[in-house]
Amino acid sequence: MITGNLKTTKSDEIFSAAQKLMPGGVSSPVRAFKSVGGQPIVFDRVKGAYAWDVDGNQYIDYVGTWGPAICGHAHPEVIRAIQEAAEKGTSFGAPSALENVLAEMVIDAVPSIEMVRFVNSGTEACMSVLRLMRAFTGREKIIKFEGCYHGHADMFLVKAGSGVATLGLPDSPGVPKSTAASTLTAPYNDLEAVKKLFEENPGEVAGVMLEPIVGNSGFIVPEPGFLAGLRELTREYGALLVFDEVMTGFRIAYGGVQEKFGITPDLTTLGKVIGGGLPVGAYGGRRDIMEMVAPAGPMYQAGTLSGNPLAMTAGIKTLELLRQPGTYETLDRITSRLIAGLLNAAKETGHAACGGSISGMFGFFFTEGPVHNYEDAKKSDLSKFSKFHRGMLEQGVYLAPSQFEAGFTSLAHTDEDIDQTIAAAKSVMSSL
Ligand SMILES: *Cc1c(COP(=O)(O)O)cnc(C)c1O
Repeated sequence: MITGNLKTTKSDEIFSAAQKLMPGGVSSPVRAFKSVGGQPIVFDRVKGAYAWDVDGNQYIDYVGTWGPAICGHAHPEVIRAIQEAAEKGTSFGAPSALENVLAEMVIDAVPSIEMVRFVNSGTEACMSVLRLMRAFTGREKIIKFEGCYHGHADMFLVKAGSGVATLGLPDSPGVPKSTAASTLTAPYNDLEAVKKLFEENPGEVAGVMLEPIVGNSGFIVPEPGFLAGLRELTREYGALLVFDEVMTGFRIAYGGVQEKFGITPDLTTLGKVIGGGLPVGAYGGRRDIMEMVAPAGPMYQAGTLSGNPLAMTAGIKTLELLRQPGTYETLDRITSRLIAGLLNAAKETGHAACGGSISGMFGFFFTEGPVHNYEDAKKSDLSKFSKFHRGMLEQGVYLAPSQFEAGFTSLAHTDEDIDQTIAAAKSVMSSL
């Protein structure tokens, strides 16, 4: 199936076997490379800015395990801290001082968070915050945006109806229609559409939830005034504003998008970076809202492995590394160089493309642009992206296997890595 020079014999063998054992051969769908030809690379190990596959090929990695590897894969200090923590046991199921340490770091860092609850994934954080939004307001509906991903809980697996449609349709079999009907959707960057939903559903909307910078329909930034407008609208209609910073938290800035853009939501979800490569999610926000969570209050939410000592340790060490001065400036510098180089390569080779970056997060689309929402993103040339992705793999560059995913850099990426990536892109694009 694979053309070109990349030797993938072992990857192919392992993936074929996996397909008989697990649905689609993977533990999470995007890993199957379905939108770029369906032949994933099977990893053997990762270190710094690099990944090695089971056939011995080395890649400059811009997925970074989908965000957590912001200090570089397997950072020696993180690994050492995890090893030391493991000596004391891998799970307590009881309070530990480590939770206080990470909780204080999160509360100090993220403007909206006065109290926090740890969970095991971004999905869990988002489904819990949804229950909390409803519990606190006594309302059932929520507004989300087309193309924003908030994990796989029923209520979030909804796409927009067409035109003035207000009621969502389930995106997946198994999601009850009645559940999906409580999810209202609007196009990203469209304040008018949000206002309209509020007007059409008086007193029924618990809150608005969004990726304050989108990473899950490619990289899309909020237009000036969009976040501030949502802050005003939610106040006006007595609803909560929730930033899903599972991807952007501790990545766009130490305090996330809310610090960078100066807009404070009522509640925030975190994941990815906060666990430093181990499973951690968190949700937090205003104290009066968080005090509704059990056992302080009546809203039930629990977890056997939540606050796990290994995961807390990896998170603490990762945040310690990130809060050193200059971190985000470094990420911003290398990532802007990368995206400028990629866009320039497209221009020189005659391909329509647009894109951007903020700190350690970037994205580009094979379309003229500008891309303000998912509809715009869908105009991208997907077959071109697919060929580009394959070509980059053959050149030793590992990009997210979908046009609708953001890219991530780390503190381990060097200027040399960036130069090499840009040169590879030029060569691949000139052959497209
Ligand atoms: C990844 C992601 C999630 C889901 O987190 P998981 O840890 O994969 O469950 C939720 N929201 C956003 C914005 C994400 O990027």
